[in-house]
Amino acid sequence: MEWFGYRCTDCGRSFAREAVRYLCPDCGSNYRPGVPLMGVLEAVFDYDDLRRHLDQARPDWTLLSAVEPQHFPALAVGRTPLTPAQRLGQELGLPGLWVKNDGLNPSGSLKDRASFLVAAEALRLGERRIVAASTGNAASALAAVCAAAGLEALIFVPETAPKAKLVQMLLFGATVVTVKGSYDDAFRLSLEYTTARGGLNRNTAYHPLTIEGKKTVSLEIFDQLGGQAPDAVVVPVGDGVILGGVHKGFLDLLRLGLIDRVPRLIAVQAERSDAIHRYFAAGAYADAADPVTVADSISVRCPSNAHGAVRALRESAGLSVTVSDAAILDAQARLARTTGIFAEPAAAAALAGLERIQQGLDALPSSARVVLLATGHGLKDIEAPLGRIRIPEAVAPVLSAVKV
Ligand SMILES: *Cc1c(COP(=O)(O)O)cnc(C)c1O
Ligand SMILES: [Zn+2]
Repeated sequence: MEWFGYRCTDCGRSFAREAVRYLCPDCGSNYRPGVPLMGVLEAVFDYDDLRRHLDQARPDWTLLSAVEPQHFPALAVGRTPLTPAQRLGQELGLPGLWVKNDGLNPSGSLKDRASFLVAAEALRLGERRIVAASTGNAASALAAVCAAAGLEALIFVPETAPKAKLVQMLLFGATVVTVKGSYDDAFRLSLEYTTARGGLNRNTAYHPLTIEGKKTVSLEIFDQLGGQAPDAVVVPVGDGVILGGVHKGFLDLLRLGLIDRVPRLIAVQAERSDAIHRYFAAGAYADAADPVTVADSISVRCPSNAHGAVRALRESAGLSVTVSDAAILDAQARLARTTGIFAEPAAAAALAGLERIQQGLDALPSSARVVLLATGHGLKDIEAPLGRIRIPEAVAPVLSAVKV
């Protein structure tokens, strides 16, 4: 593998790979739970050297991986389909619309990409236990990857996590601590745990390889579009790490000279879980006071990667919108009916956001090639859409009783 190290996204200081583990020792040293992380690290590669070694026709993306492939767990993560969504695209005035279906990852969400790389790092370092706080998906992803890798997963989740996600993590053999409190409480508790009792902490953005893991979705989109970047990528946003990861993937491609600009990133948040949206709009950070939403995976009071997310939006000439729970559930049904893709509410929020953009002054032109990130599978939370459908009553098994 080519040389890589870390760079602090706040002060710009560089570090050798083995010199740091989580945050920048300077900028992150005053970190206290309850504020967005400072000193988040970015993995930096030797791009000049990579330019010379990467086969442009058939790039070997493991050269851009921050952990060597011999440490990868034996689980097929990523390489999810990118499907044209023609009917939906026509309806939105965007014939060049694609859906990247990351619900098809082993545990059913894009989080598998982050957990996979952190587990590879744990194997490289000889750490046996990985600890994480999660709204649900990061935990089920970590549990799945740890099961494949023979590692121990210790997970802190709010007791309100959807049942299917709890079932997943328990069945994968994780140790689960359900916390009487919010996701933000679980985040703080898990940090206290690893500080006092050890283990590798996989908290989102806190461990820099969560961002690196998520960037692989951009490298795949580039491949799947035949070696091109789309014009825009629509991303549902909670902590802002998927957004940061998508941005990092395209930045790496830019640094390698494979694309000439990063796509516009479109951040979608739930109305009441909107800290990044307001931060981007107003330039000043404030928590989301009461981040309650049907889209549990994007319910965050204090997004850990708020600073990085806003940077990604600014640097990509991006846009940000918020959407109501009703719009999210409408979009979930619309996505299902027009594409055959059943996405969980947080993932469907991306479509609700794109609908809003297309109705407003910032509408994307009909020539735009747009990728909607479907970040999680609908079967993870079947309670959410139940109010929108009616399960038919049983009829007698005779044709005369069949009224359709
Ligand atoms: C985690 C998650 C998100 C948001 O990702 P962040 O990195 O927290 O912004 C969106 N959709 C799904 C399904 C998720 O699990
Ligand atoms: Zn720093």
